[in-house]
Amino acid sequence: MPAETALVCAACGERVDPRAHPPFRCPRSGDDRDHLLNVRLGSEVAFTPVVEEAQPFARYASMLWGFDAARSRGWSASRFANSVQRLDAALEDVAGVGLRCTGPQRSDALSDALGCSADGGVWVVDETNQPSGSHKARHLFGVALWIDVAEALGFADGGDPLAVASCGNAALAAANLALAAGRELLVFVPEQASADTLAELRRLDAEVVVCPREEDDPPGDPCVHRFHEALADGALPFSCQGTENGLVVEGARTIAWDAVVAEPRGFDRVQLQVGGGAFASGFAQGAEFAVARGAWPKLPRILAVQSAAVSPLAPAWRALAKWTEEGDLDAAVRRAAGRRAAAMRPVEHPGTSVAEGILDDETYDWLELARLGIASGGAAQVVSEDLLREAHRLGREATGIDVCATGTAGLAGLLLDHAAGKLDPHERALVVFTGARR
Ligand SMILES: [Zn+2]
Repeated sequence: MPAETALVCAACGERVDPRAHPPFRCPRSGDDRDHLLNVRLGSEVAFTPVVEEAQPFARYASMLWGFDAARSRGWSASRFANSVQRLDAALEDVAGVGLRCTGPQRSDALSDALGCSADGGVWVVDETNQPSGSHKARHLFGVALWIDVAEALGFADGGDPLAVASCGNAALAAANLALAAGRELLVFVPEQASADTLAELRRLDAEVVVCPREEDDPPGDPCVHRFHEALADGALPFSCQGTENGLVVEGARTIAWDAVVAEPRGFDRVQLQVGGGAFASGFAQGAEFAVARGAWPKLPRILAVQSAAVSPLAPAWRALAKWTEEGDLDAAVRRAAGRRAAAMRPVEHPGTSVAEGILDDETYDWLELARLGIASGGAAQVVSEDLLREAHRLGREATGIDVCATGTAGLAGLLLDHAAGKLDPHERALVVFTGARR
């Protein structure tokens, strides 16, 4: 029997039926396994972008879990398309722009600076013009869309607020999308959150909750504790971490699919900056799907880049690589999913960095990323502050894109390999500039 499209937990294999359970967290989560809901596309799903569509959730609708879930419960494709269009138009009203497909462009200046030959080079994806100035809206659009669909299907009652713990790009994207969707949003922020960001969140009608550490708090981020309390009271997770909401990872697949449409020849490597991991994991999954359906000739080598200030991914990746050598990759992945703390451990003393958007003390969505990274012959890179600053300077100067230092962190990994003589001049390299300077 052909495999059907489903939302499946990577650790325990649970298939979530959205009529019975919101498609966000695995119903069995809570033990020490690495529960993470993951969209598994059925064998009948082809790589069939509608290239006339400029909105990613419209262009790739047939490759999305929400589309399949709605279709299998009686919706027509045009009814789903109308929901995408309505939400995107509302987002455009709020943010000034709707969510749009991008696609890599070769930067001749960047390619020349790194000594690339004419058949190789560096291609740049620019996500800085998305609503609220970063790719985060890609993650959250699909969640907001699903809640609309779920209400229409009678799976959700619509009265629950959305919640996010963030004071950066994720919070801003969440506030824009929540306002567009006409939903209440609780944003849990630390005491040191920037006044500008808080003012912007309030302008967008978000309810900002400042979270000092309470005396009886367990260790960890008090914003996350308050966020979890809100979820326990019925709020819906509107954060960009797959461990809180598995659906958010899917949105980043569309960034890879834009690259497939624009450059069907594919790439030799892709440099992905990693904080919580949803972006890089989603991109890698999108690339894997495109290769499986013959739309890309091969998986690019996946280079996952973290700042030396906070780099929990590299040791977890090493553990997975070691277990792979002892057996095979599938067995290693099963072992890692069976006990999360065996490989992925939060960093105990996080440092600071110019790349402030990738300082998550734990790489929540690490396992799919490391699996595909190892399968592609990639690596987990750890870059210095000097390299992050150099990448930021060079990236902005060479492309004219007003990107932030987090957004050029992937390029820092490319500079690391270039300096070590590991960048072949004939390689086709891809970087994603994820966020605008604020
Ligand atoms: Zn599970």
